[in-house]
Amino acid sequence: MFQASPHHPNRSMFAMSASPAVAARDLDDLIAAAEALIDHASRDLAPATLACSFGAEDIVLLDLVARGGFPVSVFTLDTGRLHQETYDLMQSARSHFRNVRIETYFPDATSVESYVRDHGINGFYDSVQLRERCCAVRKLEPLKRALAGKRSWITGLRREQSVTRRVTAPVEWDQANGLDKVSPLAEWSNDDVWAYIRHFDVPTNALHRRGFPSIGCAPCTRAVEPHEDPRAGRWWWENADTRECGLHPKHKTGA
Ligand code: SF4
Repeated sequence: MFQASPHHPNRSMFAMSASPAVAARDLDDLIAAAEALIDHASRDLAPATLACSFGAEDIVLLDLVARGGFPVSVFTLDTGRLHQETYDLMQSARSHFRNVRIETYFPDATSVESYVRDHGINGFYDSVQLRERCCAVRKLEPLKRALAGKRSWITGLRREQSVTRRVTAPVEWDQANGLDKVSPLAEWSNDDVWAYIRHFDVPTNALHRRGFPSIGCAPCTRAVEPHEDPRAGRWWWENADTRECGLHPKHKTGA
């Protein structure tokens, strides 16, 4: 049973001036519910950590954590293949979110060297298996280190993002990593996310303004057309049902 957190200092202000495209009361309620989930993770599923890729959803969560002062750590995975715009946002986030320390995890250098030696610097284009192997080296192994000793992790997953995420539950057991996964924005729409960003003037990745709704590694992400699935630009050369990197494998929902 979650209880609404009193942490968010600007919640009532938000209700007065949310984007006209989104009902202010609805967003006010969504923020309260998201705060309650973060609060639940930080109190009942501690230690909790927020995974921040610096995409729009994660920036909202980072802002909620910063404003609310929730006792959760924050980490990001630098695969070594990110866009310059993402690095720019990482840098500006240091001054915008002064009360939050963001830990950066890098891939194991020996594993990257081995992959490149065997398959080439862009070997991930050759097959789904080699793409998954690259994600395993550059993302999954560092993720294991980031989650070590944690009881829950907080993610920016939303159900409407793709076919692979439609069963996302607000709290579910992450079998692969052996801890609870909390997704406070699971029920948020894209409009909800951007209404929040506009209202609180949260810094965002410049690529969003160039047609990138979802941002990952530079060689594996491209802009999408307005009518396309938000994650259609991720590993676009693969079938839609394989387009996950392993950070969020498909599995049955839990509590
Ligand atoms: Fe490698 Fe692409 Fe996965 Fe990044 S998204 S880890 S470059 S395969």
